[in-house]
Order: sequence, then structure tokens, then C-alpha cells
Amino acid sequence: QEDVLTYRQSLAIKVSGFDVPRPIRQFEDLGFDSVLMGAISKQGYEKPTPIQCQALPTALSGRDIIGIAKTGSGKTAAFVFPMIVHILDQEELDKGEGPIGVVCAPTRELAQQIYLETKKFAKPYGIRVSGVFGGMSKFEQFKELKAGCEVVIATPGRLIDMIKMKALKMCKTTYLVLDEADSMFDLGFEPQVRSIVGQIRPDRQTLLFSATMKKKVEKLAREILSDPVRITVGEVG
Ligand code: ADP
Ligand code: MG
Repeated sequence: QEDVLTYRQSLAIKVSGFDVPRPIRQFEDLGFDSVLMGAISKQGYEKPTPIQCQALPTALSGRDIIGIAKTGSGKTAAFVFPMIVHILDQEELDKGEGPIGVVCAPTRELAQQIYLETKKFAKPYGIRVSGVFGGMSKFEQFKELKAGCEVVIATPGRLIDMIKMKALKMCKTTYLVLDEADSMFDLGFEPQVRSIVGQIRPDRQTLLFSATMKKKVEKLAREILSDPVRITVGEVG
């Protein structure tokens, strides 16, 4: 235990919550299959970043997470790898019923980056990823969603449009990520974010990431996360 505390200190991470899993030291500690390990090394990721060391085992254990870490700390992989494992763990992958994993990000640029990163790791498994943000016509987007996918990477506004158009159902969604929650709120997307969360089954796993923790985000976290593990990296917050 002493050991774990010293190790967390060396990573400059702080945690709170009940029964927080121990942080990993290397990707090999996670029991990933050779497909994912291959994709990770193909990306040139040699060792996990501090947020990944703590968030990966925590998310893989099925826990909700509040992750507070600044830009560039490797948050995307911290939620993408567990999302892939979560999807592979689902028994029936029958098509056309809607995504299992949904990621919301504040802007088209950020959503696009997450989309590209996710595809690198999902593609080797045949997991279909749809990007639901501006840049594609709503009609094209509608058709793509109708064809089916396991993961949606979305901006809140466009996702709501697609739900209204009945392009997708959220009944199978059990893994929800709110990325850059503070920016989503700063841009005025709180109503959209709340509406999306309200349409996803309560027995989901939820991960909320933010560079800062303001009152409004803290309040949302209290309302939508269950028994979360809070992970703070460095001096942000
Ligand atoms: P954040 O979301 O925290 O801003 P990103 O997930 O976008 O950070 O990652 C920032 C950069 O670091 C990206 O270029 C990503 O590919 C790279 N990266 C992520 N994890 C690792 C790792 N374990 N080793 C090396 N590079 C990594
Ligand atoms: Mg990010």
C-alpha cells in the first residue's frame, strides 16, 4: 500500500474514492490481447502517461471516473482502450441497434481528433466508429448511422440532431465519455449534454474528463456519476 502511494506521488497524481484500483506501471500490466498491444506499439506508445496509469485500470474495472488533467496528458487513450475492451465484452453485437460507446466532445476539431485516434485502435477489431459532428452533411451522417456502428464520437448539438432524426437509438449505450466537460459548458452545451445523458440507460459506465473543475461541472459529475474515482494529475483543478 505504501508502495502504491509513493508510486502515485511519483506520477504526480491524486486519487479519491472507495477501493481505487492500483495504478499500472506498463501497458503489459493490463492483460490486453495481442491485437490491442500491437496497435499500441504501432502508435509508438512505449509506456502509459500518468493519467493512463491510474485511469486505465480504474475504467477497466468498470468504475466511473472523474479525470482532471491538462491538455496533452493522454486522456484519449485512457478512455478509448477500456471502451474497446468494454465493447469486446458484450455478448451480442447484433447490428443496427445503436452504439455501445458514445463520446461527446465540445468542438468539431476535438471530436475529429478523438475519432481518428479511436479508429486506429478499433479498426483491427472490426469495431465501427462513426463521427457525428459537422463536416459531413446530415443526410450522409444519417445514412452512415443507419448502417450501424459500435462507437459514436460526437459533438453534443449534432448528436441531438441525429437522435431527433431517429438516425440512432441509445438503448445499447453502456459506456459514455464526456470529454473536456468544462469547455462543453463554457460553450453553452450544458442543456444538450444533460439531454444526451438523460437518454442513456442509468446502468452505464460514465467517464468525465475536464481540464478544470468548476462548480457547474462538479454538480453535473455528482448527478450523473455513481461512486466515481477521482483522478487529478498535476496542479490543475
Ligand atoms: P489530451 O486528451 O489529454 O489532451 P491526447 O489524448 O490528445 O491528450 O494525447 C496527446 C498526445 O500524446 C497525442 O498525440 C497522443 O497520440 C500522444 N500519446 C497519448 N498517450 C501516449 C503514450 N502513452 N505514449 C506516447 N504518446 C502518447
Ligand atoms: Mg483530449
